[in-house]
Amino acid sequence: MPTDRPAKVGIIGAGSVGATIAYAAMIRGVARQISLFDIARTKVDAEVLDLNHGQLFAPQATVDGSDDVEVLRGSDVIVMTAGAKQKPGQTRMDLAAANAGICAKILPEAVRVAPDAIFLMVTNPVDVMTEVAIKLTGLPWDRVIGSGTVLDSSRFRYLVAKHCQVAVQNVHAYIAGEHGDSEIPLWSSATIGSIALSQWSVEGHGRLTQADKELIVHNVKDAAYQVIQGKGATNYAVGLAVTNILEAILYDERRVLPVSGLLRGFRGMEDICLSLPRIVSRKGIEAPLPIPMTVDEESGLLESAGRIREVVRGLGY
Ligand code: NAD
Repeated sequence: MPTDRPAKVGIIGAGSVGATIAYAAMIRGVARQISLFDIARTKVDAEVLDLNHGQLFAPQATVDGSDDVEVLRGSDVIVMTAGAKQKPGQTRMDLAAANAGICAKILPEAVRVAPDAIFLMVTNPVDVMTEVAIKLTGLPWDRVIGSGTVLDSSRFRYLVAKHCQVAVQNVHAYIAGEHGDSEIPLWSSATIGSIALSQWSVEGHGRLTQADKELIVHNVKDAAYQVIQGKGATNYAVGLAVTNILEAILYDERRVLPVSGLLRGFRGMEDICLSLPRIVSRKGIEAPLPIPMTVDEESGLLESAGRIREVVRGLGY
């Protein structure tokens, strides 16, 4: 827990994701001030009003919002959620050009009013947007973070936990690579209560067959499509996942999280943003941890990096 809560979180975009991050951050008391910026004035005003009507029931904070970027001034963390979202059937990569355009408009402005902030990218395709953000802002690599596969890893851990009937907190397992269709489950390093998942065979708690594993991975990859099909957007889990990253940053926790960030030489990969477990603190991110991988996992990661690189270069960055 924090020793104090002096922080200001600025959120760009007050849509489903931005507003839910504000809600989760407010309930968890992450910051003294939460400020929302959106070009849709009526929408941002309404979200701020609704959040403020719940102030009585949450830790003290000031919540405000505007269509003027000045509202973000002095933020310690800027969370970028503005942009087009997937329509049913669309992939995240399909959003790249539109959302890179939105980033180009708003991120330089955000750096102007919050030059010391850590930038936390959520807008999809998040790995591509993280690299675009590094180039647009000129900020050091360790201060530009993508929410990456924190959400996917949470979905992964939930499904493994449900299958084995154990608490999700006792499952340690990561999804690496793209936050999207080419992501890679790191089965070889997954554990439950320190037991390697490959060895897991506990009476009353089943075991994982190859078919079980394939189904779990299918459901992790398909998760956003399933939710979007049913309700048009994903918001609750991403709201909590991003708040978890905010806590790691603002409370200087040094938490290990599979966030997206620039690789500067990792198993042959260079100058590309993707997710691997990294230590996250008030300074931002550190280099990826040397997590063990099988040959297949490593080649899957390389392939994922290739897909991200292709889209980034296609945008001209
Ligand atoms: P949404 O359509 O509900 O909200 C987007 C908001 O951005 C709108 O309110 C819009 O007015 C605003 N906006 C557009 N241009 C802007 C600009 N130039 N400046 C400020 N605001 C602007 O969409 P959503 O469901 O909130 O999704 C937002 C983004 O988050 C999408 O790209 C989506 O794919 C992504 N997302 C990422 C994750 C993740 O894990 N990284 C999870 C879910 C969604």
